[in-house]
Formats: sequence, C-alpha cells, structure tokens
Amino acid sequence: MEAFMTLINQAERIVVLTGAGMSTESGIPDFRSAGGIWTEDTSRMEAMSREYFERRPREFWPKFKQLFQMKMSGGYEPNAGHTYLADLEKRGKQVDIFTQNIDGLHKKAGSSSVYELHGSIQTAACPRCGARYGLSHLLKDEVPECTAEIGDHAVCGTVLKTDVVLFGDLVQHFETLYEKLDKADLLLVIGTSLEVAPARFVPEDAGRIPGLKQVIINLEPTYCDHLFDLVIHEKIGEFAKRISAAT
Ligand code: NAD
Repeated sequence: MEAFMTLINQAERIVVLTGAGMSTESGIPDFRSAGGIWTEDTSRMEAMSREYFERRPREFWPKFKQLFQMKMSGGYEPNAGHTYLADLEKRGKQVDIFTQNIDGLHKKAGSSSVYELHGSIQTAACPRCGARYGLSHLLKDEVPECTAEIGDHAVCGTVLKTDVVLFGDLVQHFETLYEKLDKADLLLVIGTSLEVAPARFVPEDAGRIPGLKQVIINLEPTYCDHLFDLVIHEKIGEFAKRISAAT
C-alpha cells in the first residue's frame, strides 16, 4: 500500500486502463463469471456483429437486449474503486480513463475524462440522421427507432445503432490512449485479464516509454504481471477503501 501511495503521490498525469473486474463489486459479472457467453453459443457472436445488424436490424435488438440484459437496467452504482479514481481527479491529478467496460460507471462516479474503448450500452444513434438517444428511449420499445422529424411532420423511423462496439466495428480511442501514455508518468491497470486485444498489448508498449511507471491491481495474476513495477492481487473496491482510509 505504501509503494502504491508513493507512486500516486509522485504522479501528475495518470492513464488508467480498466476492464470487467472494475465493476464486479458493483454487481456486474466479469467475462469469466458470465460463463463464456460467446463460446457456449457461437451464433451469438454472429448476431452481435455489425454485419448482422446491417442485414437484420429488427432481429438484432431483441437478441442484443437479451444478451446484455443485466447491464441494460441502468440500476448499477459505481463502487469504491470508481469513486477513488474520480477523487484523484478532484485532488488535482490529470486522470484519463480508458475502459473496456460498456456500463458507464466511471462517468456515473464523476470522472470527467473517460474513453469507452468498446462504446457504451447507455446510448445509441440513428444511422440515417445522426440523432442520439439515451437508455430510457432504448428500453421503451423492443426495437428502438429514431423519432426525429424529417420535414412535413414525418418521423425518421430508422432502427437505431447501439454505441456498443460490435464484432466488425473498430475499437475506439486507441490512438488517444497512446498519445496520453506518451505524456503520462503512471499507467494504472485495473480489473482486466489483459487477454482481449488490443488492450493486451498496452503494458508491453508502455514499457518502452521512458520514465513511465506501471501498476496493476487485479484479483488474479495475469500473463504479463512481470511487466509491471507494482503488482497488487486484490479486489479494487476493497483496496480503494483501505487507501482512502489511510490518506
Ligand atoms: P475479464 O473477465 O477477461 O477479466 C477480468 C479480470 O478482473 C480477471 O482477471 C479477474 O481476476 C479480475 N477481477 C474480478 N473482480 C475483480 C475485482 N473486484 N477487483 C480487481 N480485479 C477483479 O475482463 P476484461 O479483461 O475486461 O475483458 C473481457 C471483455 O468483456 C471486455 O471486452 C469487456 O468489454 C467485456 N465485459 C464488460 C463488462 C462491463 O461492462 N462491466 C462486463 C463483462 C465483460
């Protein structure tokens, strides 16, 4: 804990990379606990692809909603880990968070610089006119449509595209992650097995940036723990509570 606090106190610009483990203490299961949602039924993977959405947008939505049901509720709250990161920013640190999660909990906790690499389940947009919609609109009908007026009181009616990155979509904000890393003095990796590309390449790439320290907080060991200056195998929420109590 002391080593962690020293690194945090010395850092001014912190880049944070988070994964599903960040939100398990908020009640959202991580990829492993979810029990291989992609492998137990490979047709799900095809249905969650951009190609399938473009071919059959009306069939896409019920499948998407069923698969991500737990997260669609919007009823989840940030845990002590999310709050700790938001508080670091309040203490005057530059904290840029790059998350693989789609649950929106970093923003809900109050962090202002959040980049959602895999998009967000909370929002969607009209592929035709670009109008944007929030969760309540997406939950209203089984297949959410664009309700924007397009002249003569006609309604657009196009099926919306989720902001979640689908198979076949590009992961977002990766260039920004590397730009921020170049100027950072600390990389904090939290709650990710680092098995999913392209996040899995980050620790090795970061190791080539002079002066950049790296810390990982993850419940279980990962295949690249040896690349970090400090490795903490703990639950992020519990660790954050102990750190907050000690400062
Ligand atoms: P992962 O499931 O592969 O790995 C999660 C890691 O977090 C594990 O190594 C586990 O030991 C660790 N962990 C679990 N609880 C923890 C805790 N309380 N504190 C610290 N560590 C904890 O997840 P991943 O690396 O993010 O990759 C899986 C993919 O699944 C990603 O693409 C992600 O978008 C997606 N996913 C997102 C959510 C979400 O939005 N909350 C949930 C499940 C999966």
